[in-house]
Amino acid sequence: MLEVVSCLGVDRCVACDSHPPVAARGALDGHLCRTCLDVVPDHLTRLPVLPPGIESGWYLGSYAGPVGAMVRAGKYSGNEAVLWALGRHCGRNLDIRAIDSVVAVPSSPWRRLVRGMNPADLLAYPVAADQGIPLFHPLVRRRSQAQARLLRRRRAQNARDAYRVTCPVQGRVLLVDDVVTTGSTARACAEALLAAGAAEVHLLVVAASPGGIVPES
Ligand SMILES: [Zn+2]
Repeated sequence: MLEVVSCLGVDRCVACDSHPPVAARGALDGHLCRTCLDVVPDHLTRLPVLPPGIESGWYLGSYAGPVGAMVRAGKYSGNEAVLWALGRHCGRNLDIRAIDSVVAVPSSPWRRLVRGMNPADLLAYPVAADQGIPLFHPLVRRRSQAQARLLRRRRAQNARDAYRVTCPVQGRVLLVDDVVTTGSTARACAEALLAAGAAEVHLLVVAASPGGIVPES
């Protein structure tokens, strides 16, 4: 049985895939080795640059480090448990007041079908639960190219009009996504939510690009 588990890689750190994971207090228990766990922040950091339409924003860590590796393990290798753990870790460490609803950035229908899940949903559920805030699904995404495959200058154009809101939105919304790079997705979602009646849109992402958000002009 131990050999089977080893072949599946489940006894390896999901970030470095080199060392066995260690027990830890908190949501990341059993997912990371000691080395990786020690560099994952236990607090969220404010995004220094905000996409237009975003009132405030936080992220957990760099996409280039263990946090990014965990996101990739969840997003591209189907490790849903690690996305849930990241969402719980963020939810427990997010200090934000007077948010009325949590909204996950939706993936395209095709991506959701292929992956069998939307990564941002798995992050947003535990955030909403830990914060005691309702989770709301007003956003839908039309079919469009995946942002990760596009050049930076084309991301804003691709994101524009890619999202629409299916019902009225009220109050202060916390938008949740796995990664922020140029901020074009967050901007497009925020514009749609604000147009539908949201008073403010705040942003929580797990991983930010190493150079920080560089918005398109
Ligand atoms: Zn590791």
